[in-house]
Amino acid sequence: MDHLPIFLNVKGTPSLVVGGGFLAARKADLLLRAGCKLTVLAPSLGDELAHLADTHDFVHKTSELTAQDLTGCQVVFGCSHDSTINQKLCELAAAAGILVNVTDEPDNCDFIMPAVLDRSPLLVAIASGGTSPLLTRMLRARFETTIPAAYGRLAEFAGGYRERIKALIPDMHQRRRFWEDMISGPVAEHLFSGQFEQAESLMESLLKQAALDGDRKPVGEVYLVGTGPGDPDLLTFRALRLMQQADVVLYDRLVGEGILNLVRRDARRIYVGKLPKNHTVPQEEIGKMLIRLAQEGKRVLRLKGGDPFVFGRGGEEIETLAENGIAFQVIPGITAATGCAAYAGIPLTHRDHAQGCIFVTGHEKNGRPDLNWNVLIQPRQTAVIYMGLSSLDLITEGFISHGADPQTPAAIIENGTREGQRVISGTLSSLPGKTAEAGISSPALIIVGSVVTLRDKLSWFADGKPKKRRSLLNE
Ligand code: SAH
Repeated sequence: MDHLPIFLNVKGTPSLVVGGGFLAARKADLLLRAGCKLTVLAPSLGDELAHLADTHDFVHKTSELTAQDLTGCQVVFGCSHDSTINQKLCELAAAAGILVNVTDEPDNCDFIMPAVLDRSPLLVAIASGGTSPLLTRMLRARFETTIPAAYGRLAEFAGGYRERIKALIPDMHQRRRFWEDMISGPVAEHLFSGQFEQAESLMESLLKQAALDGDRKPVGEVYLVGTGPGDPDLLTFRALRLMQQADVVLYDRLVGEGILNLVRRDARRIYVGKLPKNHTVPQEEIGKMLIRLAQEGKRVLRLKGGDPFVFGRGGEEIETLAENGIAFQVIPGITAATGCAAYAGIPLTHRDHAQGCIFVTGHEKNGRPDLNWNVLIQPRQTAVIYMGLSSLDLITEGFISHGADPQTPAAIIENGTREGQRVISGTLSSLPGKTAEAGISSPALIIVGSVVTLRDKLSWFADGKPKKRRSLLNE
């Protein structure tokens, strides 16, 4: 983060805008809405400021800028067309330790002004650190349409009950649930449709119920969520919703930062990742942890790379939960095979190449990949091998020694769907050498079959380099 996002309380404090034009008017409007005692210093007021003066009280000064004008201010704004005046404002502000913002001069800004969506008391502020004001405006427009004006009403209504509910439900987690139920339930619906009395009476029944429930612990639950191969855009809506509700999250190494950032900010995070041949947290331990946390009444989010039921040991985890009477939900995710194949431009099936596809794990047993070669080597079939990087040599040798043509096309995809994805394609005989040469590391997925050749044929891969989605197909 390049900036600290805060909402400043400026009610009743002096603030200064230097300049009389349209940009000065925009800042003045915000400052007045936030309750500042505003002074505008400019030789004359433009139309917008003159118009603002009709409806709002502020002081207009035409004198020369002096240190006196900044007295008591927390923030000041330079919006003058004359850069020497803005510069002088910066110097005076720096000397007095006051934060200054000069329009369109990032080097002269202690802070930036976000695009604001005002649903007071609810405020949404969006900033791009000055890199793309257009994008921030577009996002604001999008929020304008998705956050109804009534949300302000909801926030205000909730604010009125805050202290009472705090006293009634001392436990933070229980209180949070109460609010979630209220915000996503009929109370909010009535408020949105302007039925205040009904909303109030429903709220009173909720409060009565909460008082009756007393210290009764909420029932915990486990969400076993597949996060897909890495690109956060590949999450499902349901995954995202549960990620934003959970109290605690258990995740492993396949779950990237981009996805973790979408988990509720204040959820407790527990890393239970395993590295190949270096089991950090045994599966049994994870099962026990899930049970204990759910029994404490927590909503436990178990994040799994890809799909929980595809080489994800999801089955084992829910078996333990079921045995212990813990409620759970399983949310599927895009598995590495489909995600990586799509982002690498390799269709797993194709009318002219493969009528079937098989997913296997290349995990070794007694030092060798434990594979059923007869099933794996079939005409018109694509084979996808998970966890096969460390035994790539043995896998390709196995294919060849069990009768596959050494020239069978094969590819390996490293970091599929993520930034820095690399795709190496070749044949069963050339792939191990090429992979070693490129220094491919985990996570990596192997695809064997003639569908691999389609990658070169697809129009956007002419000359072997992607012409579209360059950032994702980064070679
Ligand atoms: N449940 C997961 C698979 C877990 S097994 C799923 O459905 O995708 C872990 C293996 O998945 C890795 O060794 C690798 O072979 C594959 N894998 C997972 N994510 C990957 C990615 N982003 N890029 C390439 N391979 C990936």
